[in-house]
Amino acid sequence: MRKKSLLTVTTLILMTFIFTSSALAYSFTGHTWSKTNGNTYNVSVKYATTNTTYRAAFDSAVSDWNSSQSKIKFNLSALNVSSLNKVGTQDVDNPSLYGVCITYPISGTAKISYFTADLNIGNPNVVNYSKTRRSTAGHELGHALGLDHVSVLVTAIMNSSRDRETVYTPQTDDINGVNALYPL
Ligand SMILES: [Zn+2]
Repeated sequence: MRKKSLLTVTTLILMTFIFTSSALAYSFTGHTWSKTNGNTYNVSVKYATTNTTYRAAFDSAVSDWNSSQSKIKFNLSALNVSSLNKVGTQDVDNPSLYGVCITYPISGTAKISYFTADLNIGNPNVVNYSKTRRSTAGHELGHALGLDHVSVLVTAIMNSSRDRETVYTPQTDDINGVNALYPL
């Protein structure tokens, strides 16, 4: 009897884990913007590249995120000259590296002070394919929002093994992640 109930509990825990891990695939970096409930948090961003192709990738990615959730809005503009948040390029000779994002927290806190996000123009796929650029820019902005990588089994822009030519906008799991990270 005791053995049976232990087995039942174990099965229940296992099933809960399996259900939870597929329903809540998103994960967090631990860094968040200081958003107050009920308000949209606006993040001013400037370009750190003059290249119109790479600017366009970030323009698309910003639109993709801004139109898919209401918690954090990116304002990417050449007018934002004094912003510390910036998007640009790096040239790293590594075809497995698509982009990079660094969030800098306010000292002694987990709140984001500012971020930098870059496309790796040392990766031929980034140079040659527009949807791959958009997907990469969107992924890096996802990190800037506070989202971390998800399991390879999930269709998400935060999945680093995604097909960047088909998954290039925020998916349901990514949007659920932002909404969970920044409650109303
Ligand atoms: Zn990443």
